[in-house]
Amino acid sequence: MSPAALPALNIGELQALLRRREVAPKMVIEALHDRITEVDGKIGAYLSFDFEAAIKEAEKADVNLPLGGIPIALKDIISVARQPCTCGSKILANYKAIYDATVVKKLRAAGAIPFGKMNMDEFAMGSSTENSSMQLTHNPWDLSRVPGGSSGGSAAAVAADQAIAALGTDTGGSIRQPAALSGVVGLKPTYGRVSRFGLTAFASSLDQVGPLTKTVRDNALIMTAIAGHDPEDTTCLDQPVPDYTANLERDLKGMRLGLPKEYMIEGIDAQVKAAVDGALMQLQSLGAEIVEVSLPHTDYSIAVYYILATAEASANLARFDGVRYGYRAENPIDLLDLYGRTRGEGFGPEVKRRIILGTYVLSSGYYDAYYLRAQKVRELIRQDFAKAFEKVDALVSPTSPVPAFKIGERTADPLQMYLADIFTNAGNLAGICGISIPCGFAKVDGKKLPIGLQLQGKALDEARIFQIAYAYEQSTEWHKEKPKA
Ligand code: GLN
Repeated sequence: MSPAALPALNIGELQALLRRREVAPKMVIEALHDRITEVDGKIGAYLSFDFEAAIKEAEKADVNLPLGGIPIALKDIISVARQPCTCGSKILANYKAIYDATVVKKLRAAGAIPFGKMNMDEFAMGSSTENSSMQLTHNPWDLSRVPGGSSGGSAAAVAADQAIAALGTDTGGSIRQPAALSGVVGLKPTYGRVSRFGLTAFASSLDQVGPLTKTVRDNALIMTAIAGHDPEDTTCLDQPVPDYTANLERDLKGMRLGLPKEYMIEGIDAQVKAAVDGALMQLQSLGAEIVEVSLPHTDYSIAVYYILATAEASANLARFDGVRYGYRAENPIDLLDLYGRTRGEGFGPEVKRRIILGTYVLSSGYYDAYYLRAQKVRELIRQDFAKAFEKVDALVSPTSPVPAFKIGERTADPLQMYLADIFTNAGNLAGICGISIPCGFAKVDGKKLPIGLQLQGKALDEARIFQIAYAYEQSTEWHKEKPKA
């Protein structure tokens, strides 16, 4: 196989070549490097990579380990020792991580090679990667459009065959929505399934790390490596980790899938609706039964999410004050001036908006009216899902109401941007798991734009949504299509 063909392979394909010694791990890193040099000028997915370090690790990689010799790219909010970790923010532009995140340690233990730090919305706040303070990332299917966000660099790199697989983070949709808009597979694990130690916190009751991959099997493979208890993260569940690849081949006979009636709303793009309808028929033909379910508090989820996420962000981001981390304003006249100017100069406009909103909803006069009330409605949203999962094995819906939108189209109106997560953020509020898989294409301005199907499962039911996703994927051809160079 010519080295130039390697970046287009998935983990499974690459693993077979590595284990037969037809390809050395070092060749894969070199081939990716060439590919990045060739296309990333147009895409803008990478913020940094350490080629020398990756080559060194490749030279001693054990290809018989579960992810032996496989390079994996990381959203630039996940710490890799001695490498930059900018979080897409000027305030951390020159910051280097001092230790490996637990997920990075686990990837290394499984034989994988961390390679590349990927662009993202600043501190993971956004749905288009346009809030990055560093650069724009373009959708590989149409360079005038966004890749989704906030894990847009991770999604675009996997879609453009500049990365074999990547990790992202999902607080309200930031893995699933860019996976949908860029045409890859993205999983948000159950809250607490994957350690967040070494991940810069945005909203601690919602954040999860998860894989973005070319196939469902690749995704299950990475999850098997990164999931599990971590004494360094007290929110991390102490539950056994199954081999998520073990039951992928099971059929869907008798599987009950719920279609939330509140999700098939007006305002869904007609081509997205048609693709999801087609996927529902396909799932039925595979033996699944589709039943209508209700999630009555759906209408409140965006409001609740943006109260709780901003409240938590305002507390988490207080640490960036110019004293311990990153950027520090020059020649302060006193401590308050140091804090004020460091944060004023270091944070971008969306991050400031969130901190101000979050501080407001937590302030003594408004705490009961906003924060406390949002917590109560969050519980109702959680109960909606619990009731639905009494009747069905998983929920099925579009991932995003629209395909990739134009760069610049939604930046002037934050509310429009917030609505990009309308089908994903309730899953974070409820703490359940969800996956987005390719289910078709929209044709817009003569370009093909990917459409994502979301499957959500109850807490710790990743194996089941992987099984449904795999059965669907194997019976369709969508995941085999690639964006034109
Ligand atoms: N788009 C949502 C937000 O801006 C979700 C982001 C995320 O999941 N990190 O908060």
